[in-house]
Amino acid sequence: MVGKEWSCVYQNPDAPVEARVKDLLSRLTLPEKIGQMTQIERTVASPTAITDSFIGSILNSGGSAPFEDAKSSDWADMIDGFQRSALASRLGIPIIYGTDAVHGNNNVYGATVFPHNIALGATRDAELVRRIGAATALEVRASGAHWAFAPCVAVLKDPRWGRSYESYGEDAGLVCEMTSLVSGLQGVPPEEHPNGYPFVAGRNNVVACAKHFVGDGGTDKGINEGNTIASYEDLEKIHIPPYLDCLAQGVSTVMASYSSWNGSSLHADYFLLTEILKEKLGFKGFLVSDWEGLDRLSEPWGSNYRNCIKTAVNAGIDMVMVPFNYKQFIKDMTDLVESGEIPMARVNDAVERILRVKFVAGLFEYPLTDRSLLATVGCKEHRELAREAVRKSLVLLKNGKNADTPFLPLDRNAKRILVTGTHADDLGYQCGGWTKTWFGLSGRITVGTTLLDAIKVAVGDKTEVIYEKTPSKETLASSEGFSYAIVAVGETPYAEAIGDSSELTIPFNGSDIVTAVAEKIPTLVILITGRPVVLEPRVLGETKALVAAWLPGTEGQGIADVVFGDYDFEGKLPVSWFKCVEHLPLDPRANSYDPLFPLGFGLNSKPV
Ligand code: BGC
Repeated sequence: MVGKEWSCVYQNPDAPVEARVKDLLSRLTLPEKIGQMTQIERTVASPTAITDSFIGSILNSGGSAPFEDAKSSDWADMIDGFQRSALASRLGIPIIYGTDAVHGNNNVYGATVFPHNIALGATRDAELVRRIGAATALEVRASGAHWAFAPCVAVLKDPRWGRSYESYGEDAGLVCEMTSLVSGLQGVPPEEHPNGYPFVAGRNNVVACAKHFVGDGGTDKGINEGNTIASYEDLEKIHIPPYLDCLAQGVSTVMASYSSWNGSSLHADYFLLTEILKEKLGFKGFLVSDWEGLDRLSEPWGSNYRNCIKTAVNAGIDMVMVPFNYKQFIKDMTDLVESGEIPMARVNDAVERILRVKFVAGLFEYPLTDRSLLATVGCKEHRELAREAVRKSLVLLKNGKNADTPFLPLDRNAKRILVTGTHADDLGYQCGGWTKTWFGLSGRITVGTTLLDAIKVAVGDKTEVIYEKTPSKETLASSEGFSYAIVAVGETPYAEAIGDSSELTIPFNGSDIVTAVAEKIPTLVILITGRPVVLEPRVLGETKALVAAWLPGTEGQGIADVVFGDYDFEGKLPVSWFKCVEHLPLDPRANSYDPLFPLGFGLNSKPV
C-alpha cells in the first residue's frame, strides 16, 4: 500500500504502530474512548449498541443457547455483522471479538477439541502445545473471532480448585514451558522483539490472553475466586514466572484474577497491576477485567458500582468485561472522568493500549473473516494433532502387580471384551467444562470419537465388544466369557466455582463400579478427570491397570492407540496425586510430602 494517499496517519498500514495509535487517540471524543474500554456480551450487542456506544469489544460466554449448535460459518456471520457496524462508525475502529477458546475453539460445533491444559502439562511437550495453539488460532479465526482468552497460566496448588484442569500443573517451571501456547496462538515473534510489546504475526493468528493475573491457582483450600496468602517473594517465585514467559513471547493481553492476594482483590490492586505488571515487567498490551470482575470487587468497594469502576480502572484495568449492563458502566465511567476521579491520562493510557493491540493484530487491515479458513475447522490434520496430544498425555499409574507382570498393552485379538462405565461412551464428558457451554455437557455434543468408538475400531470385527454403561448382574455373572474389561469412570463436566470440591471422589459410585467389575474380570480403569481424585485402596488393589486420561477432548482414539500398544505411555503427572483429601495441599518440598503418586510419576507399559 506504499504510495497510496491516506487522509489520516492511523489509516496508513505502513505508518509505525505508535504513530497510528497517537493519531487515532487524538481524534477520539470521550464517549469514543470509553466505548473502546467497554466489552459487552454478544447477546446484548446490536448495531445500535455498537454505533451509539462506540463499543470496542464483544465476547461470548461459552456459546450460550440458542447458539449451541452453531457452526463456524454461523459464528463468522454473526461476528462479521458486528464488525460491519463498528466499521460504519465515525472513525471505523474495528471491534476485537474475544472467546474462551481454551482447549481448541471449544464453543463451536465441529471444532477440534484438544486435551485440557492439565493433560498438556502431562505431555511436558512445549512444541506440541505451540502447534495446538497454531491450530486453535486457525479454527478461531475461521469462526470470526480475533482473541482467545488463553492460556490460563495458573500454577495449581490445590486440586480442590474447580479450575484445576485449566492449569498445566503444580510446578511453576512446567507452567512456564507450556506458555508456548502464546507463540502458537499469536505466532512466534522475531528474536529482537521487545519484551512486553504486543505481537500478533498475521491473519492466521489470534490475540492471546494470559490469565488470571495473578495467583489464581494458589488460593487457600483451592477456593475459586478465593484468597492467595503469600509473600511478594512467593508470588515472584511461583505465580509470576509464567507471565514473564508470556511477555517475552509478546502476549498482547492479560486478564485480571477474581482472586485476592492477602485479602486485596486483584482487580483493585494498583501495586500488582500497574507497578509490577505494567511498570516493572514492561507490559504494553492491555489488561482486561474478568467477567463482572468489577461488580464482584469485595468490600469496601463492593456495594457501589461507581466506586468499583473507579478503583479498578485507576488500579490499571484497561478494558472492562462488563458484560451486560454497559449503559450503566458508560454512564458512571463518564461521570468519573468528568469529575476527575479517573484522570484523563489513565483513560488515554488504557485506550492507547487497546488501539495498539488492534493495530498490531491487523484488525484495521483485515477486520472480516477469511472464509477460506473454514476448511481448517475440525480438519484431519488438527484431529491428528489432538490425537497425538491425547496419546502423549496419558499417565500410566499402575500396570500389573509389578514390572514383571504387566497387564498392558491389551490384547487386540481377544475374543470378547467388556467396555463399561459412565465415561466409556460420552463425548461431552471427554470434553469437560468450557465446551459448547461454560459448564460443559454430556452426550454427542459435537463431532468426535468416544473411547468406545475408538476401542471398536482398534480391535476390529474379530473381537466381540460388549458395552454396558453400568455393568449388569447378568454380565458380571457370566464374567468368565470376557478376556478383560475396560472401565471408564470419572468426573462430570464443571467450570469455575461449581467445580470446587472438598471430597474429590469419583461420581456415580465410580469406585463401586470399578471394584464390582475388577473382582470378576481382569480390568483396566481409565480415569476421565480434570484432576487427581480419591483412589481407594480397593480400586488400586483390585484393578490390573490404571490410566489417568484427564479430559482428552474429541479424539478418543489417542487412548486406544496407547492401551493397545501402538504407542507407549509417555505422560508424567503434572500434579502430585494425593492419598486422601485431608493431606491437601501437597507440597513436594515439605517433609510431610506423602503422595499416592508423586509429581512427575508415570510408568511405561513396555517392560524394560
Ligand atoms: C472466567 C474467565 C473467562 C471469562 C469470559 C470468567 O468467568 O474467569 O476465565 O475468560 O469468564 O468467559
